[in-house]
Amino acid sequence: MTNVIVKTDEAKCAGCNKCIFECPVNANVAKIVNDKNKISVEPEKCIHCGRCIKICDHGARDYTDDTEEFFLRLSQGEKISVLVAPAIRSSFDDYKRLLGFLKQAGANLVFDVSFGADICTWAYLKAVKEQNLKSIIAQPCPVIVDYIQKYRPELIPNLAPIQSPAMCSAIYLKDYMGIDDRLAFISPCIGKKSEFEDPNTKDYISFNVTVGKLKDYIQSKGIRLSSCPSVEFDQCRANLGFTF
Ligand code: SF4
Ligand code: SF4
Repeated sequence: MTNVIVKTDEAKCAGCNKCIFECPVNANVAKIVNDKNKISVEPEKCIHCGRCIKICDHGARDYTDDTEEFFLRLSQGEKISVLVAPAIRSSFDDYKRLLGFLKQAGANLVFDVSFGADICTWAYLKAVKEQNLKSIIAQPCPVIVDYIQKYRPELIPNLAPIQSPAMCSAIYLKDYMGIDDRLAFISPCIGKKSEFEDPNTKDYISFNVTVGKLKDYIQSKGIRLSSCPSVEFDQCRANLGFTF
């Protein structure tokens, strides 16, 4: 079943058609609701690029992720560890206090995906050398992968035979370190949900927690990160992967 990630709030939609013009893949459809023009997303065509959310002047476009579900499950005592994208360093003033907040909220282990980026780089170098690859399309970005799968299937053979840094991290933790916690991933990307629910990798990462919704959650709960303890990442220290 197709993920419904990007949605229209019909009450706010002014029917201006801007999203239709801005969408790179023509994934919007017009319909008349109570004599008014409303534009909705066609999930099976959407590649989750987020463009329409950014350009809608009426706040009528939004996306869903797993932030609420993640915190609900933590509050119920579910054993969940967290993977954090390297970009967290620029998303929060003091990301170590965010880690402290996550631990206080019940997260078990908190890992820096930078080590997965190191694995990813190693795997690319290995694949290029051993498989003599001349031209490949890197696939850390699920929007690019979605685009190719939906609109340029002839390029699928050119996709790199290597998972994203997040998925490399999850596979390493679960298959090589024996961690059986459910995993959440904190990242800036709304499209990661489609990657995590791909039949090839389903069940490695259970929650896509976007930075945007995480900040909304923290604000809505009145949480002051400056009051949270400063905490380091758990083991799996990285090399240059933090630059991803
Ligand atoms: S840009 Fe926003 S307000 Fe305009 S049609 Fe699209 S969803 Fe509606
Ligand atoms: S998220 Fe991107 S692909 Fe999806 S409807 Fe909006 S602009 Fe189009």
